Amino acid sequence: MSSLYIHIPFCTSKCPYCDFYSQVGSQQQINEYVELLTLNIKILEDKTSSPRPFETIFFGGGTPSLLSIKQIEKILNRVHRSFGIETDAEITLEANPGTVNLEQLQGYRQAGINRLSLGIQSLKDENLQLLGRIHSVSQAGKSIDAARSAGFDNLSLDLIFALPNQDLPALEEEIFALLDFSPEHISLYGLTFEEGTEFSTRLQSGELSSCGENLYAEQYRLLHEQLLAAGYEHYEISNFARPGRRCRHNQIYWQRKNCLAIGAGSHSFIEKEWGERWHIPPNLKHYRESLQYGKNPAELLETYNRQGAMKEFAYLALRTSTGIDRHKFKQKFNLPLEQVFPTALEKTSNFLRTNHDYYNFELDGWLLYDHLISHFL
Ligand code: SF4
Repeated sequence: MSSLYIHIPFCTSKCPYCDFYSQVGSQQQINEYVELLTLNIKILEDKTSSPRPFETIFFGGGTPSLLSIKQIEKILNRVHRSFGIETDAEITLEANPGTVNLEQLQGYRQAGINRLSLGIQSLKDENLQLLGRIHSVSQAGKSIDAARSAGFDNLSLDLIFALPNQDLPALEEEIFALLDFSPEHISLYGLTFEEGTEFSTRLQSGELSSCGENLYAEQYRLLHEQLLAAGYEHYEISNFARPGRRCRHNQIYWQRKNCLAIGAGSHSFIEKEWGERWHIPPNLKHYRESLQYGKNPAELLETYNRQGAMKEFAYLALRTSTGIDRHKFKQKFNLPLEQVFPTALEKTSNFLRTNHDYYNFELDGWLLYDHLISHFL
């Protein structure tokens, strides 16, 4: 199995809570970047023995919907020539509702994009303004309608919760509004105040307040209950899907399968021995110069030993509802899980569900995931 992630580090404006690698880019910068991506693919073709063709491709950002239809076609054609793309591949593009229209979405669909992830983030205008988003609730609705009209039958919507001054009834209204759109997939993010962001400064000055642990937990529970009642599967800490609509790309990541990545600020995982992680530094100048000199811009970040690989296998699997497959673990590492993590299993036993085949967390375990997982690290 093999996947490709393509990072597009440009946005129309910078949201005050965001610490992703993205910046406001000119059309000229975007045009040049697309050329660099095609060079990156050619270099990767020569330097990797990763299985091919790709089963999933993910355009993430930043705002990939700033790319024109022709630019998306150009990148996908290059990927196709260099690596091949499975006929039933999942090809996702993240789009910002303020940047798309029907014609553009029809073009993306024809270019081969078959899954759209729309960053609607909230269904209340006052929240969108607080978050510094460039779109309104009405524009979000129009983008969703346009995506459906363009033929997207696999739509994921993002929602941010735990916002300042958001109480449970207000969140519940947003959930009902979200469900009215019947997305196939929903990703939820609890607002965090990351260091270096404008929101973090505003939190420190007292201008903003965080929602607090208790309300965070109540909101998470409410989302879980309402989305399950509406027929979604809560298949990963932050992700819900209709049956059969789980994101294939992200599952490859959680299973430690090959995921190549191109673009400044991207990360790859290679299934070589116990695993390797590579990254391309989040620096456009470095990216341009490396590629123009015919060099691979990726740098080795980590080579895993067996111990490191076992830890990562466990903590990534415990993010998912399936959890750790005991047989797969033993087959892969030649040791039973119980022998490797006896203390961690004991300390997390109140939250771990187990049977003959799996160990997994339920809702309460996911709420304490950061704390519980520390026992495995
Ligand atoms: S659109 Fe997304 S990636 Fe861009 S600044 Fe806003 S949150 Fe960050």
